[in-house]
Amino acid sequence: MLSMESGYIALYGSGELKRRAERLESRLASCDICLRECRVNRLQNELGFCHSAYLPIVSAICSHHGEEPAISGSKGSGTVFFGNCNMRCAYCQNHQISQDWKKQKSKEMDFHKLAEQMLYLQDELGCHNINFVSPSHFVPQLVRAVLEAVPLGLRVPLVYNSSGYDYVASLKELDGVISVYLPDLRYASDKWARKFSKARNYVTYARAAIKEMYRQVGELVVDEFGLAQRGLIVRHLILPNGIAGSEESLTWLAREVSPTVTVSIMSQYYPSHKAQRRHLLSRTISEAEYSEVLRLLEEAGLENGWVQEMGAAENYLPDFEREGHPFAVAAQMQGEVTLNPSSFSAFV
Ligand code: SF4
Repeated sequence: MLSMESGYIALYGSGELKRRAERLESRLASCDICLRECRVNRLQNELGFCHSAYLPIVSAICSHHGEEPAISGSKGSGTVFFGNCNMRCAYCQNHQISQDWKKQKSKEMDFHKLAEQMLYLQDELGCHNINFVSPSHFVPQLVRAVLEAVPLGLRVPLVYNSSGYDYVASLKELDGVISVYLPDLRYASDKWARKFSKARNYVTYARAAIKEMYRQVGELVVDEFGLAQRGLIVRHLILPNGIAGSEESLTWLAREVSPTVTVSIMSQYYPSHKAQRRHLLSRTISEAEYSEVLRLLEEAGLENGWVQEMGAAENYLPDFEREGHPFAVAAQMQGEVTLNPSSFSAFV
């Protein structure tokens, strides 16, 4: 099918996008934007669990070529990495920007500048979409930035790329704004979610969030070039020692969402950050664990999506302190900078 107009353009025209931004911003006065419900006044720069005040924190902006093929396409996904997080994953590969809030404070950006950066990704780099990474604690700021960017000419689909620890009340304000939801489904056990991500009731909350996302955007729709225009893609990162609860999560997706929902199985787990000190998380996944998840995928009857090839772990480690692109790797021979390509293949 041909490209469709992004929903936020009509919402802007009717004034609804402005109303959504205002409604969301009013909730920052006693913050309940995510399900931690800290009730701090972020409009007065008080800090809750996410250590984020009023202005968005933008830790990196780049064209990302390592996402799923429907997201990265040939020109890359226009990625906006928000700083800080509402989870504390012991193995977070983005920990430099997600769990070092004192450093991130200097990355606060005003809304107009963020809107201009989105236009830079769309117009100068030719990215296929704007991909907001870790947006759960910045939902009002995301909508405000889109409101600023529409009159500048923003038109590409917006991707909401989260850990799945999202509050349904906030997601409802994004109905029609976000075209593609790209959540993780990290755990099927609240015990592991609490222990390794400091996230209470993760399973209930993430499943409710995924159902709401699916209600809004439905199954993945791509254009004639295979680029995502609308829909849900659920990511499942295989963790060592069965910590991700793959069997339960994949079965739940097939039964409670749909056997035709698009799923992205990720093998890139690497024991970053504090994971080396956590016995169960201190290694990459084995071939046997990888094969077992592929078997479970088939057994669950899930039909659509991608599987990341084995051996992707080190290629996908970003370095947000490196000059230039966080995913750049120096080419061995020429000393040139290359970007890691997508390593996903479609289900067969
Ligand atoms: S967005 Fe931040 S301050 Fe607000 S409830 Fe969540 S963690 Fe707390």
